[in-house]
Amino acid sequence: MDFRLSPDEEAFQATLRRFGDEVLRKNEQEIDDKGVIPEHVLSEMARLGLFAMPVPEAYGGMGATAVQTEIAAEEIGRGDFSMATAVYFLLEAGWGWVLAKFGTEEAKQQILPSVCQGKTFLGIATTEPGGGSDLANMRTRSWRAGKEFVVDGEKSFLSGVMEARERGGGHVTLTRQKDGDGFNFLYVPASAKGTSAQKLVNMGRMGISTALLHYDEVHVPEHHLLGAEGRGFGVAMQGFQVARTFVAAACVGAAERAIETGMSYIKERRVFGQPLGKFEGIQFELADLYVQCEMVKWQVRRAAWLIDQYTFRGDHSHRSEVDRVVASVKLTAPQIAFEAVRRVMMWFGASGYTKEVGLERGLRGIMSYMVGAEGGLNVMRMILGRELLGKEFLPYAPPAGG
Ligand SMILES: Cc1cc2nc3c(=O)[nH]c(=O)nc-3n(C[C@H](O)[C@H](O)[C@H](O)COP(=O)(O)OP(=O)(O)OC[C@H]3O[C@@H](n4cnc5c(N)ncnc54)[C@H](O)[C@@H]3O)c2cc1C
Repeated sequence: MDFRLSPDEEAFQATLRRFGDEVLRKNEQEIDDKGVIPEHVLSEMARLGLFAMPVPEAYGGMGATAVQTEIAAEEIGRGDFSMATAVYFLLEAGWGWVLAKFGTEEAKQQILPSVCQGKTFLGIATTEPGGGSDLANMRTRSWRAGKEFVVDGEKSFLSGVMEARERGGGHVTLTRQKDGDGFNFLYVPASAKGTSAQKLVNMGRMGISTALLHYDEVHVPEHHLLGAEGRGFGVAMQGFQVARTFVAAACVGAAERAIETGMSYIKERRVFGQPLGKFEGIQFELADLYVQCEMVKWQVRRAAWLIDQYTFRGDHSHRSEVDRVVASVKLTAPQIAFEAVRRVMMWFGASGYTKEVGLERGLRGIMSYMVGAEGGLNVMRMILGRELLGKEFLPYAPPAGG
């Protein structure tokens, strides 16, 4: 067993750290204030090959491992504290991998190269106004019509809808079969005929839009189907395994940044005649945060390693282990990052409460990963319950194709 990164991975991490420090940090306030990631930031990401990294080179990606992608997610989460760039990055990495793995040759050639160049956006659409956790009871329907599928319904809280409508692109969309018990997983362009969007105003992560997308009998070609007809639920769950790992990695980066920011501050800030960091009340908090962050960081790396060993190879022999590790990091990393930012804000006193110091930006961004994005905390607990106790302890019937 070797915990070290390879020399190539270390060099890649150093490049990404520079990108985070020199590009993302300098632009994060603008990203948060203006609600958009500037074009020059996206171009730099494209130059570094950061869009949909795990997609094979044949379709324009880097063919990156999950560990490499996890390293990048960590650095991006550390660089743009608002988490907007991290979300943009990880959606394309996770769902780009899914499209490359389960999409038809025609769809891959049509969709992936421009996503990998950063020209178009690729996201995920599972959540509906009626709920995001209980996916098996979704209402959006699809059915075959000759060489097309028709999608009818409504999805909500989708990241990147406005970007996809403006720049081009779309979402891999989970739908229930109208005439069957299964699910069809279909790529639907965000501005396809019959779609209409309504932007939602969030409290954080402002640089990427969240919106409701309505589908009024939207037609998509049959080659937009991912996986087999009626078997889309299981495909989507593999995508969640991958994307959740990168969510957790972004949170590790944010937690590390918060802790480092706090450490610099408590060495300098003097209270009662000495640096704040001399007081045990503060040192003990720092020690707790450091330990939690290190523990989850290594568990996230393990999740990425497991994905490389099994999920990326289409080997499901360790599915339960992968599910347990991924659910545990998606459950803990956002909470640890949130707590790190909250505590460090307290060390900063009143200035921690200002927009100028910018810690609050991290708090708002990280919270999106707690309430929902890629699954809420209790859904992670339910996955752990299922894997620890057995499927018979699920409080609902497992969906077909799941
Ligand atoms: C900023 C942001 C971006 C998002 N981007 C996307 C996206 O790109 N694509 C997409 O499809 N979705 C997206 N989502 C939606 C996200 O996936 C959902 O918020 C999430 O799945 C939870 O669904 P819900 O919000 O409908 O909550 P609900 O499913 O209504 O659940 C409400 C609460 O109850 C908890 N809960 C649910 N079931 C149980 C249970 N059995 N026992 C105990 N507690 C339970 C949940 O954890 C949650 O806290 C995004 C959300 C946010 C906040």
